[in-house]
Amino acid sequence: MKKRYLLAPGPTPVPDQALLAMAAPIIHHRTPQFSEVFRETADLLKYVFQTKQDVLILAASGTGAMEGSIVNLYSPGDEVVVVNGGKFGERWGKISEAYGLKVHWITVEWGKAVDPAVVKKALDENPKAKGVLVQASETSTTAAHPIKELAAITKDRDCLLIVDGITGVGVFDLPMDEWGIDVLVSGSQKAFMLPPGLAFVALSEKAWKFQETAKCPRFYFDYKKERKNLKDNTTAYTPAVSLITGLRECLKLIKEEGLYNVFGRHDRLARATRAACAAMGLKALAPDAPSNAATGVFVPEGVDGGKLVKYLRDEVGVTMAGGQDHLKGKILRIAHLGYVDTFDIIISIAAIEMALAKAGHKVQFGKGVGAAQEILIEGYK
Ligand SMILES: *Cc1c(COP(=O)(O)O)cnc(C)c1O
Repeated sequence: MKKRYLLAPGPTPVPDQALLAMAAPIIHHRTPQFSEVFRETADLLKYVFQTKQDVLILAASGTGAMEGSIVNLYSPGDEVVVVNGGKFGERWGKISEAYGLKVHWITVEWGKAVDPAVVKKALDENPKAKGVLVQASETSTTAAHPIKELAAITKDRDCLLIVDGITGVGVFDLPMDEWGIDVLVSGSQKAFMLPPGLAFVALSEKAWKFQETAKCPRFYFDYKKERKNLKDNTTAYTPAVSLITGLRECLKLIKEEGLYNVFGRHDRLARATRAACAAMGLKALAPDAPSNAATGVFVPEGVDGGKLVKYLRDEVGVTMAGGQDHLKGKILRIAHLGYVDTFDIIISIAAIEMALAKAGHKVQFGKGVGAAQEILIEGYK
């Protein structure tokens, strides 16, 4: 027997309450029973998104809401500024180009956050740009972009701030209405502690105005139609009944803990992981703007990162993530978002110490674990 642990930046572990709720027999979606589940879930989502706006629930992975946000808000030929600091930033640009938008790319070195002054300059130089597309947390590099500062720049322009908060919402503070985020996207399999399959998106009043004139072709992801159905406590097409039933349980857990305590827990776990990596001599990939969703570190010289991730998964039983593109084989990404707590971090760090030792790297056992414990203990009375 091998006990397995899922400590990747998505999908993330699912709490028992949600697993049990999702195991219940399917109920029909056009019934008062389902409407009640849906209504409660939709209300709780507003709490987590920190918005008065409707949060649409789509049967899709997170990318579905990224694509939906482009096709509902823009027309072919429209100009947008895309912050490309990793795989997901690149995805914003690729989707935009697929629908005939003109993209002004801001390339950010992997592991760094975008400089708000650079975004402001791009908008000043391209006054026709009608959007800034960015990640709150660029999961591929584990860096966090300065969303509050970006919102201050787009606020008074005829330009939307569109934020992929797929590993941001429910991890750290992103008060949509207070900061003036126009579109906030998330997905089920990250901080929402659910299996993959749901995407969430909320639009500001300003964004809904863009929706009225946008001409990109669309059918399934029609936000206006979804909003109309949401008012009747349902979705336009068959909703993912089981996932939504599980979502209600996960959102209740978040509400019970309190959103700010959820952020505090993520912050403690993230700091402990960073301290442990530093103690193990592992260099951080995003030292200046680390995201509280996951920590990326370079694997030591002479260690094959790809083999390390495989060894951790297949032999040790701990699933983490490696790197993509030019960072393939060079980094390890340790997730600490969603249904995770103190001892998930201990497992991660202990597993890394052991796997590195097996890879022939000189390791002093307990050094990383001890550094993590120094911070993790803050979580107890
Ligand atoms: C996981 C992730 C996505 C992609 O979501 P899918 O559910 O795989 O479509 C997009 N952006 C970020 C920042 C992510 O972490």
